[in-house]
Formats: sequence, C-alpha cells, structure tokens
Amino acid sequence: MNDKYSFYYQENNTLFKDNILVVCYTASAQDIKKYSLTSNNIVLFLKSSKMKEMVKDGTVNYPKIIPKLFNKEILFRIQSECLLGMYGDSHCDCETQKQEFIKLLESNEGIFVHIPQEAQGWGLFYKCKELELQVNGRTPEGKFIGKLNRDEAQKYLIKNNKFEDKRGYELILNILRDLKLDKKKYIVYTESANKINNMTKNGFHAVKYSEFIKDNITSENASEYLVKILNSTHTYPEFVINNLCDIIKERKYNERTLNTLIDIINRINNDPKYQIDEYTKESILDAYNEIICGEERNYVLKYSSIKKKQNKFTCEVNPLIFKQLKLIANKNVFDRICYEKMFYFLNTSNMDIKKIRKSKVLDINDENSAFFVGQEYNVERLISSEKKTIIEDTTSGSKVKTMFENSDYEYIKYQEMITFISEDEMPGVNIYIKRIPNRQNYVMDVYGPKEQIHKFIEKLTKQKTLALLSFVNNIKLEDDNYSEYNLCFSDLDLVIQEELNNFKEMKGN
Ligand SMILES: [Zn+2]
Repeated sequence: MNDKYSFYYQENNTLFKDNILVVCYTASAQDIKKYSLTSNNIVLFLKSSKMKEMVKDGTVNYPKIIPKLFNKEILFRIQSECLLGMYGDSHCDCETQKQEFIKLLESNEGIFVHIPQEAQGWGLFYKCKELELQVNGRTPEGKFIGKLNRDEAQKYLIKNNKFEDKRGYELILNILRDLKLDKKKYIVYTESANKINNMTKNGFHAVKYSEFIKDNITSENASEYLVKILNSTHTYPEFVINNLCDIIKERKYNERTLNTLIDIINRINNDPKYQIDEYTKESILDAYNEIICGEERNYVLKYSSIKKKQNKFTCEVNPLIFKQLKLIANKNVFDRICYEKMFYFLNTSNMDIKKIRKSKVLDINDENSAFFVGQEYNVERLISSEKKTIIEDTTSGSKVKTMFENSDYEYIKYQEMITFISEDEMPGVNIYIKRIPNRQNYVMDVYGPKEQIHKFIEKLTKQKTLALLSFVNNIKLEDDNYSEYNLCFSDLDLVIQEELNNFKEMKGN
C-alpha cells in the first residue's frame, strides 16, 4: 500500500477550518492514460471529528485509522481539476461548487477528492482551444468563425460528432476500496447523476446530496436541524434552509420544532453574540412571521411556576396586512387606533399574574366607539364580557394606581404598543393588529365565531399574502382568546405619528 499512498496530517487547515488528513495516491502510467489524467497525483482530503483523538503523537498507522474515521454518511465530492476556474475564469461553475462544498465540510465530516482530470478528460491544452472557440469564437489559429457551443467546438476541433465525457471514476472507487471506505454511505455533492450512477453501479452506497437533504428534512427531524442552528454548530446551504423553512411555513412541525424555532427567534432578538448567517436568519424570521403561534398549549412563565395558556390564535404579520385588509374589507375596517400600555403585577400570595391595560385612543372612527381617552380597564374582563358592560365596570378609578398601592401585588413590568382595533366589520369578528415598532413587528389577533373567522381567513388567503398563508390550518377559536407580547417602543412619538398616517391612509384621507 505504501508505495502507492502517502499521508500527511495537517493541523488547522485554513481552508477546511479543521485538522485534516491528506491522502495522496500516485497513479500508474496506465491509470494516467486510461483516466485521461493530466498528472499522476490524486489527492483526498479527509475531515472527521475523530481525527484529533485518533491521530495522536508518535507512531501512526494511517491505513488502519482511516476506516474508523467515519461512522455514518460521508459527504463526498470529486473535484475534477479546473485550473482556469481556480485562477478566476468566470465561465467556470465548478469553482463555486468546490467552495460551497468546503464550506459544508466546516460543519460536516467528509471527503474531498481532487483528481487531475481537466475538461471532461480532454486536458487543459484542449480546453483552452475549446473555450477560445466557445467564448471568443476564434479558432486555434486566431481566425474568427463565430462562437460555437461545446459540442460544435469539439466537432470543429477533433471531428467528434457528439461531445464525449472521457472521465471515469473507477480509479477513485478503487482508492476508496484500498482505504477500506467502500462500505460507507456516500452523500455526493454533485449536479451529475452520472457520478452517482457510476458509484452505485460499482457497488457503492451513494445518494445525491440535494436528494439526501430533501428526503431527509421531515417534520420529525426538522428540530434537529434547528437545534444546530440554535447552537451555531452548523451552517447549512441555502436550499437546506429553504426546505427547512418550507416545513415550518407549511406548519408540519411538532412541538419541539416550534419550541426550538422560538428559541432561535429569541436569540436573534436578544443575543448580540449569536452566530447565525444572514440568509438563515432572514429566512427563519420570515418563516416565523408566516406562522401563527398556533394551537393552544400550556407554558410556564419564566419568573414563576405559573402555568399559562398560550393564545390559540395569534399571528405575527408584516405590514402587508394593511394592504390586504384594505382589499378585502371596507376601508374603515378599523374603527380606532390606540396607544396601549400593559402593566403586569404578580399576586404574591397565589402567584397569579394580573394584567392591566391602559388604553389611549389616538384616532377614532365613530363617535360611539367604546373607548375613551385615558381609559383604564382590566383586560381579562374586557375579553370575556359584553363590551358595553365593561365600560360601566372599568371607567371608575385607576386600576393601575390601585395595583401599585396594593402590597399584595408586586409590579413586574410594562409593555407598550399601538393597536388597530376593529369590532364591527364582520358580525362578531374582532380584529386587533398590534404594532411593536422597534422589532418591526405586527401582531394580529382575530376573535369571533368560528364560521365568521373561517370566512375572514378565506378572504385573506385568497389575496395570497405570504404572511397570511398559514392562517388557514389551525383555527380553534373561542370568544375569550387574546394575546400578549412583551415589547417596548423605542421612539414612541415617531411611531405614533407613523401609525396615525397609516391609519389616515387606510381611511382614504
Ligand atoms: Zn471549472
């Protein structure tokens, strides 16, 4: 074995960002001819998390170690040499694939094979002539005859009627056999089905990387991917993120997925040290924006052991909601816009949380609207009771002040928001859109009889608002659902002005 193979263990390779094992195979003259190689060295870069522990100081038996480096799947790429691509030829597509794969190996185990096989086995000398014809339309003599495609160029240059790919991968498969890696499962990073077929035909277990990912992300394992994003241990290529986010958007997730997703959102919002790449971050925020918190579930508040019910029907939506609402509903769909401040108090004797809402109407659509400037009331009662009863009930005195003065209660926090409120647009349907400005978030709550809500959602989704697509699936409403969010305004005056303008625009002024 040692006359054909040489080994070099590298610590902290700057490209692979890890310790790697370089295996160099020297091809025979016969191999060179058979596989159209441009030189005799085939290089394999092996990356495994076990590398550090297996390659210790002192004597090392590499052939013995190598089969033990990989347990499960091996991410695999065969990179045919492309000297011009390496030196920046913009007509090359394999160089970016190479870089993508190496980036993938930053967080996965795998093998990268470099084989000196230029131009589908036709060699670099030929390739230059071919490209000169393809790109510049000039013959090897420099005569301009017009740009030819690859097949035409080959026909012109070597009278071949059909372009021939002279590459063969048996040599590489033999190397894998030599290294006792032929029983592993290969996830091949390639666009070429040919490569895969070649491997399976030769008895290797090989699947195409994109298919592997597509088949592999399911509603059951989506959380595994999310956990790795949450812990910044993995970065995934864009199509993986897209597949993952599709599952989220289609609401095919389980509770663990949802919880992990919410943890990621929290880290994005609260942890300045969180390492997440921009594409992943934007996609996940986008997917999150598209789903509603969904089915009712119980959760435990952070600051106490109280169990609380989460909203059954709450959705974070983007500003498009206003445009959509305008299309499906009367322009006066909202009858008022309020500035709201929620105060939270903890009842220290029974550990119950009391929430008091202070609402200030900023603009009002009709004289008979139920709320007045500076009114204070108890939220829970507002939701569960008849509107008019509450007004009588809650206009007396300041509950916030009372709560502050009551020693049984411990003041916890407050939150501010702008709320658009509609209570009369459809029979029994209340629509609340809450703007949480410093996060650029809108929260939407809809309350009402099931049938009415269904109609409303149907209308909304017909408008194909991305943000609302996911409304459809999980509607389980009771009259007494409401939502709470814990956010503050950064620049309140500015936000109020902005919202007033929105509101006026909606009313058509
Ligand atoms: Zn290339």
